[in-house]
Amino acid sequence: MHYRQTRAEISTAAIAHNAQWVRKTMNGGKLLGVVKADGYGHGVAPAAQALTPHVDGMAAGFMEEALAVRETGYTGPLVILEGCFSASELSVCAEHNLSPVVHCEQQLQAIEQTALNKPLWVWLKVDTGMHRLGWSEEQTQQAMVRLNASRNVLGVTLMSHLANADADHKLNAEQKRLFCQLSESTDGYQARSFHNSAGLLNPETQWVLQENDWVRAGLLLYGVNPSAVTEVQASLKPAMRLVAPIIALHKLERGESVGYGSAWTAQRPSLIATVAMGYADGYPRQAENGTPAMVRGQIVGLAGRVSMDMLTIDVTDVADVQIGDDVELWGPNIDVRQIAACAGTISWHLLTGVSVRVPRVKV
Ligand SMILES: *Cc1c(COP(=O)(O)O)cnc(C)c1O
Repeated sequence: MHYRQTRAEISTAAIAHNAQWVRKTMNGGKLLGVVKADGYGHGVAPAAQALTPHVDGMAAGFMEEALAVRETGYTGPLVILEGCFSASELSVCAEHNLSPVVHCEQQLQAIEQTALNKPLWVWLKVDTGMHRLGWSEEQTQQAMVRLNASRNVLGVTLMSHLANADADHKLNAEQKRLFCQLSESTDGYQARSFHNSAGLLNPETQWVLQENDWVRAGLLLYGVNPSAVTEVQASLKPAMRLVAPIIALHKLERGESVGYGSAWTAQRPSLIATVAMGYADGYPRQAENGTPAMVRGQIVGLAGRVSMDMLTIDVTDVADVQIGDDVELWGPNIDVRQIAACAGTISWHLLTGVSVRVPRVKV
């Protein structure tokens, strides 16, 4: 039972639609559905269940997340993007058929030195310019030889990650060139993976996907376009609608202010609605005055600072507005990318930041 009307409505049909769109766009290769961070905030169970018929594998951030994916009943390939560091973790990988990323010496040694009763498929991560995780160009072949020599290794996917796929940046072509060169010069792998959502769409990083090229798609599956290719958004369906009710209405005279810091002042006689959504729910406190929301089908603007449990919007121009009315903070009508822009952040941050006190409601 939820007494508070505040909620994140999750459309599994939208997730399925987006996955099908991604697959069509890939036009070849294999699709790894990224469900880390509780399915990008949508809930790992609805996300995994919606994706299962449409993906060839899934990816979690770390062991606990991978086990949460297994608990949804998913039995297919499942990658642990940060990999594993200990012998005990590797044993859990063997038990649950999980594929760890191997990005450093410590992880490689753990694989070489642990006695496993089943070999693992591993993803060898090479650093092509992001400099966050992965083996250097010089280290890659040697790491591959060692993996292939280990009894614990069933097969290897060669992978790398893009630093600037969502933008026009000189590193895009450079990373692609280095990854293609490494995949030519390295032996001992059966598959490879280079593209995230934006990388799939960026002309600078695309290639014609072969059967064993895996695309690691996250944001696109949840209906948000991460790329600079703007027309893409029209093909996607946002899977999360963040909604909260109006819990108070206040008339302000011209010159009166609302909220902490009195950061918004009425320029005309105004009607202010207080909405049960605050930064403790995951709405960004940095959102500026005028950040859009929707009530009764009309776009309205944030008025004043976001507080912990509430925010305030200017509903002066909304006819018949009432306490109890739902306000869409982001979703099919209010683009989460626009909220991110108004708050100086990114869509990934907002979706994954919706807090535990907001119930996820399947619609
Ligand atoms: C999170 C993640 C992805 C998915 O990124 P999107 O931009 O959401 O598509 C892909 N690869 C790696 C290594 C990741 O960590």
